[in-house]
Amino acid sequence: MSTEQPHRPEQPSDPAHPDWSSTGFATRAIHAGQDPEATTGAVVPPIYQVSTYKQDGVGGLRGGYEYSRSANPTRTALEEALAAAEAPAGSTARGFAFASGLAAEDTLLRAVLRPGDHLVVPDDAYGGTYRLVARVFGPWGIDHTAVDLTDLAAVGAALEPGRTRVLWVETPTNPLLGVSDIRALAGLAHDAGAVLVVDNTFATPYLQQPIALGADVVVHSTTKYIGGHSDVVGGALVVADGAQLPGDLSSPTGTRDLADAAAFHQNSSGAVAGPFDAWLTLRGLKTLAVRMDRHNANAAAVAQFLDEHPGVREVIYPGLKSHPGHELAAQQMTGFGGMVSFRAGSEAKALEICARTRVFTLAESLGGVESLIEHPGRMTHGSVAGTALEVPDDLVRLSVGIEDVADLLADLEAALA
Ligand SMILES: *Cc1c(COP(=O)(O)O)cnc(C)c1O
Repeated sequence: MSTEQPHRPEQPSDPAHPDWSSTGFATRAIHAGQDPEATTGAVVPPIYQVSTYKQDGVGGLRGGYEYSRSANPTRTALEEALAAAEAPAGSTARGFAFASGLAAEDTLLRAVLRPGDHLVVPDDAYGGTYRLVARVFGPWGIDHTAVDLTDLAAVGAALEPGRTRVLWVETPTNPLLGVSDIRALAGLAHDAGAVLVVDNTFATPYLQQPIALGADVVVHSTTKYIGGHSDVVGGALVVADGAQLPGDLSSPTGTRDLADAAAFHQNSSGAVAGPFDAWLTLRGLKTLAVRMDRHNANAAAVAQFLDEHPGVREVIYPGLKSHPGHELAAQQMTGFGGMVSFRAGSEAKALEICARTRVFTLAESLGGVESLIEHPGRMTHGSVAGTALEVPDDLVRLSVGIEDVADLLADLEAALA
């Protein structure tokens, strides 16, 4: 077949492929795209560890599969499940799975930007996102402005109608847990002719549904909560039904449909999730709801404990009333998440605490079942040192896991003593 679009598998409306779009979150996360396998009835999508598919005569594809960069059944199952998890109830969206969160971001930015375009990014964005925008896309003629997304007037001033194509939102942010108003930002972006992209990695679709609030695209590092077990790196894009490319841009296939452009670029640059990685990520997604409930509860207890501890200068957690985004987070999210940051008072103290925990493992990344501790200034956010995105040197970031909370509190108590 010589069409430019990869083949997408058929999605027949028959009893073997039911519509889960009106069911609750946990039901969708477990069932959407997970039809029992036709030949054996296997209840979990198998790992189709295969690169190519026999054709019944030239172009006679079975179910649309031709080559695994374009589509693979295990990846399709994940892409449908991710789309169902992010789509507002009763609607659809299109999902795309990648080899990492940054691969997903790179593909999206290539699809929506051209040389001379401008984008607005959070001044406390994930460091890797900022590095991609500033140091990879910058030399290709893409200009950016970093702005505080909690200041809507500043965002409005940074958007240049006709030149700004993307407003990039991350909420809560990594690692400073800033909370910004997705609905208001969507209005500002759309008035300026830009698309609204939300990195939903920290909140997950269980706690926050950006498309229902006006986002055109949701980005994930599925490495984090969706995978949930620190055993796989992956990323995803979920494009809202009907989302269009910004300005007068059309995709290389000639359409203005943003999901078609994402599909074209996913296939053309090929940073796709492999079958085993897709399978592990799917396995994680099925338990996301129950894991997040425990992450929320444990993080709230940890934040409370640290807030009352005399050795801690400041605790940053959207669930605390002292957090400037607390009210907004309470409206926009259905829980405050599992990430807690705090300021130890000095870099030396921060480094000492990081060295002394036993249950909290000193490591980068987040969102797994096990608790992690890290020093953003020297670890995850080292790449933004010296930029507007530099983080305080006494900052410690906790990814609060789902262990017994008493053990987590005792570990922190000992490390702070
Ligand atoms: C980790 C992370 C990314 C990048 O994802 P990778 O899977 O590491 O490429 C993007 N955004 C946020 C908020 C992250 O935490």
